[in-house]
Amino acid sequence: MLLISNGRVLDPASGTDAPRDILLDGDRVAAIAPHGQLAERAHGSEMFDAKNLIVAPGFIDLHCHLREPGGESSETIETGTRAAARGGFTAVCPMPNTRPVNDNASLTRSIIERAAAVSTVRVWPIGAASIGSKGEALAEIAAMKQAGIVAVSDDGRPIATAKLLRQVMEYCRALDLPVIDHCEDSSLFAGAVMREGKQSRARRQSEGPARHLRSNAAPFHAHR
Ligand SMILES: [Zn+2]
Repeated sequence: MLLISNGRVLDPASGTDAPRDILLDGDRVAAIAPHGQLAERAHGSEMFDAKNLIVAPGFIDLHCHLREPGGESSETIETGTRAAARGGFTAVCPMPNTRPVNDNASLTRSIIERAAAVSTVRVWPIGAASIGSKGEALAEIAAMKQAGIVAVSDDGRPIATAKLLRQVMEYCRALDLPVIDHCEDSSLFAGAVMREGKQSRARRQSEGPARHLRSNAAPFHAHR
């Protein structure tokens, strides 16, 4: 058994924000009580002094990048999940923009299998909304759900069109899967670095031409 004593326990589920001692028995929480009250029960346990520390349930990262497969020089499932554990995250949801993109069940399964072999935290993959996250055709959402994805997203790309987004949402509603969308409509910025509107037009007039535009951008007045 392990006694984590004297920490500030933050637990949103029970509304707790108070100094508490926690007694762990194996991988279970055996008791939580005000400081000192578990001393007898914890006799002989390993002790951890959590003075000035926050003790909380494991954090969940809903948007991370483990980069495997295809980007192992910057991160792997093993290194990313070790960093997660170090930071207090007990579950992470890796985005699908690996190379290849996680848009099919066999890749989803291989990520989960790899995580089972090397990770001490839970890995809950997010599947792509469209094949290759290209915004053209729906990915294998139902099959990926069976394989273990917990949500769908095209990560940093907006789901390309309203039509595709509607299809994704209808599918995902039927499958009870959340859709994580990068909320941006590329027809509104058309190559520029800010959305067309009153502010961008006013700044453009006062600061001269093209300051806020990339070189390939159409002038704002061209698309009203
Ligand atoms: Zn991202």
